[in-house]
Amino acid sequence: MEFERLILAAGPTGGKVIRASDGKKPHSVAFIQCVGSRNLDKYEYCSGFCCMYALKNAILLKEKYKDDVDVYIVYMDMRTHFKGYEEFYRRARDLGVIFIRGRGSHIVEDPKTQSLLIRTEDMTLGEPVELPAEMVVLCTAAIPQSDAGDVARVLNISRGTDGFFMESHPKLKPVDTPADGVFLAGACQGPKDIPYSVSQGSAAAARAATILSKKKWKIEPIVAVVSPEKCRNTRVKCGICVKACPYGAIQAAEGEAAIVRTAMCHGCGTCVAECPADAIQQKHFTDEQIFAQIKAALEKNPEEKILGFLCNWCCYAGADLAGTSRFEYPPLIRPIRVMCSGRVDRDFVLEAFRLGAGMVLIGACHLPYDCHYISGNWKMKARMDALTPMLQKLGLSPQRFRVEYVSAAEGLKFAELMKEMATQLEELGAERIREENAKLKPVFDRMLSKKSK
Ligand SMILES: Cc1cc2nc3c(=O)[nH]c(=O)nc-3n(C[C@H](O)[C@H](O)[C@H](O)COP(=O)(O)OP(=O)(O)OC[C@H]3O[C@@H](n4cnc5c(N)ncnc54)[C@H](O)[C@@H]3O)c2cc1C
Ligand code: SF4
Ligand code: SF4
Repeated sequence: MEFERLILAAGPTGGKVIRASDGKKPHSVAFIQCVGSRNLDKYEYCSGFCCMYALKNAILLKEKYKDDVDVYIVYMDMRTHFKGYEEFYRRARDLGVIFIRGRGSHIVEDPKTQSLLIRTEDMTLGEPVELPAEMVVLCTAAIPQSDAGDVARVLNISRGTDGFFMESHPKLKPVDTPADGVFLAGACQGPKDIPYSVSQGSAAAARAATILSKKKWKIEPIVAVVSPEKCRNTRVKCGICVKACPYGAIQAAEGEAAIVRTAMCHGCGTCVAECPADAIQQKHFTDEQIFAQIKAALEKNPEEKILGFLCNWCCYAGADLAGTSRFEYPPLIRPIRVMCSGRVDRDFVLEAFRLGAGMVLIGACHLPYDCHYISGNWKMKARMDALTPMLQKLGLSPQRFRVEYVSAAEGLKFAELMKEMATQLEELGAERIREENAKLKPVFDRMLSKKSK
């Protein structure tokens, strides 16, 4: 940034590149790339635009001072993707910019001349080199604004592990956030250059216009509703649903039944699966409806079937793709569609085995960030991580219960998974499955006795 100001005609030096230490014009300038970026101990990600602005400044230096300045770029990989960028790189080479592939390890200053010595490795030569330079420009990692966490809290939006704001979905909703009416554009979402930021800005404005242009905004009718008489928060402190909701759509004031703020509910059903009192239901995906589907799916020869709870956006779509792509697999799965894997109640799994299912599969969006409901897949994972050892302790063969992550694009993966599960089912054999089920049924009967089906 300091160098940008120096070389700018409207900057403090009127565009003259001089050293802050002695005011002299440098005759050699070295740019060091990836300072902190692409470093597992600092910032893992690529800062995206540094290669391009280093090339830009190198070209500006060469055009301005010609042979009076030597320009070096010490880099790991020169990333010049996007339209016209490779040509820019070639132009820098043609102008005589010298590229050294390596990571600068040390810079020491000569106290007499204030010139610098860069220690690095030239990976092309395969040996260490010392590069004298009268000015060194560090292309440092782009990091989120220091108060990004406060903004995220106020707007109820999430941040990735890198600290930048998270989009709802990297491919399908790249400028939306999980909070309705809040859109992302530019570097707050991740490092990017100006053309990319501007395109995102236009997209975000267009997305906002879709809301502002309507007098009424319709939401999906699959929201959650609380039965106040069942909610135990009126008697003891609960609020489990409040913590479970990825959208902050539930309130549970002390001594009062929880309330779902319908306009904020996205209909993932995670709260429904988490509520210990079965006090919440999701419209069109009620317990009663899903139990009826489990029963119908396992009516005949249940031990020969795989009962699948597949999330709408990823695994169910992956299964669809397997079908439309004509990938063949044994037709043993009976899929039950849920909007989010977060809706899969522990009791659904128990009921499936109680009714004699051969295998149960939960198909979800990939971790960590693919869930269309922010964290529904994580909530499901925590629930099933607790259930799995319990089932195994009770005597269920481990192959019979699986959680798998399959994206909408992974039709082939889904077909392969079905083949693998079908082989395992055959190896286990119907007899062994029936024996296990007979042993487990009384336990599951007891565990599900209070469930209204
Ligand atoms: C040294 C350098 C050189 C670059 N050179 C180029 C180049 O040549 N070409 C190119 O295409 N790209 C270049 N880039 C990238 C370019 O700067 C970014 O793409 C661009 O600035 C992103 O625009 P933005 O509006 O998203 O973010 P910014 O330009 O960072 O604007 C965000 C604004 O929001 C303000 N803000 C932040 N938080 C808050 C808050 N809580 N409340 C109120 N205001 C807030 C900030 O102060 C800032 O003014 C360069 C980047 C760097 C660091
Ligand atoms: S989790 Fe269920 S019982 Fe607990 S506050 Fe929410 S609705 Fe009420
Ligand atoms: S957890 Fe999901 S279904 Fe429940 S209130 Fe929140 S968004 Fe709605």
